Amino acid sequence: MHAPTTVPFRFDPSATPVDASERAARLVDPGFGRVFTDHMALIRWDDAQGWHDAQITARKPLTLDPAAAVLHYAQEIFEGMKAYSLEDGGIGLFRPEMNARRFNDSARRMAMPELPEALFLESIERLVQADRDWIPTMEGGSLYLRPFMIASEVFLGVKPSSEYLYMVIASSVGAYFKGGAPAVSIWVSQGYTRAAPGGTGAAKCGGNYAASLLAQKEAIAQGCDQVVFLDAAERKWVEELGGMNVFFVFDDGSLATPPLSGTILPGITRDSVLTLARDAGLTVREEPYSLDQWRADAQSGRLVEAFACGTAAVVTPIGSVAEPAGRFTIGSGGPGQLTTKLREQLVAIQRGHAADPHQWLRRL
Ligand code: PMP
Repeated sequence: MHAPTTVPFRFDPSATPVDASERAARLVDPGFGRVFTDHMALIRWDDAQGWHDAQITARKPLTLDPAAAVLHYAQEIFEGMKAYSLEDGGIGLFRPEMNARRFNDSARRMAMPELPEALFLESIERLVQADRDWIPTMEGGSLYLRPFMIASEVFLGVKPSSEYLYMVIASSVGAYFKGGAPAVSIWVSQGYTRAAPGGTGAAKCGGNYAASLLAQKEAIAQGCDQVVFLDAAERKWVEELGGMNVFFVFDDGSLATPPLSGTILPGITRDSVLTLARDAGLTVREEPYSLDQWRADAQSGRLVEAFACGTAAVVTPIGSVAEPAGRFTIGSGGPGQLTTKLREQLVAIQRGHAADPHQWLRRL
């Protein structure tokens, strides 16, 4: 457990926990994001007191004034991370300090108060401890944690709120893909972009996702699984998927991924894949890659694999790419060798099954 911070947590177990047999029934096939635990973490902030009133309490609906700033101007940020049940009975978190840092990067961009990293970590650890019975133990299962912060001042002026609520909720989730990751098909968004230079693309704020939904809907209508966005300035460079970063694997064994230019989210899985690939002695480039090059390289065979990566689906092969002019296939159209290897390596570290040279797994 992390050393307690200067904001003391109180435990308010006013919840009647779900009884054990009902919990077991809900954990049989939890899917993603629909089964929630008994508790939540909550910390308040206001101009006068800063962070205060930290609690682990019953998970319950919020009472919000209809004029709360978040409901009008979307001053909201969030994170997504997982707690794993380890074979030795312990619990693991994967690089949670990276989520703490990114949360504060998002907070600064949205003119919100930063949460001390230690307080972020303590809130996560206390909630996971309180709800440890909700961590699924089946293969591929985990407890998905959703820290978020909303502007709660009751005021309709357009300005940074003077009051905020930080909360963490947790959801028991199953394997994203049962029996390994199948290759997904990707639609290249034509009319919509995700983020512009100077915008909020590198922040994890709700507004980014609201703006991506229509493009994702279009991808589904085109018979694809996911949408990929091009840059807003030249409409030429591949940026990222709606909720995942993207990697390319070439026939000389090298990898490439778009650089962190301010318009894509700095994924923690992206950073981990870069590190694992470099550790393995592979050449990795963080450089712009155009859609035209992607198509040409897939057709010539220079590009042998492509994959998307993020907390939810870890590493997911991209089998084909569709655009109005037609569809191109990457490699065999199925999971590639390096994609599968990187996925297995990452999962093994997350589950405590492999050496962890960078000490990414934080045990509770
Ligand atoms: N890009 C976007 C837009 C995302 O929402 C996510 C998920 N957080 C990612 C990339 C991947 O980030 P991570 O590996 O930290 O989950």
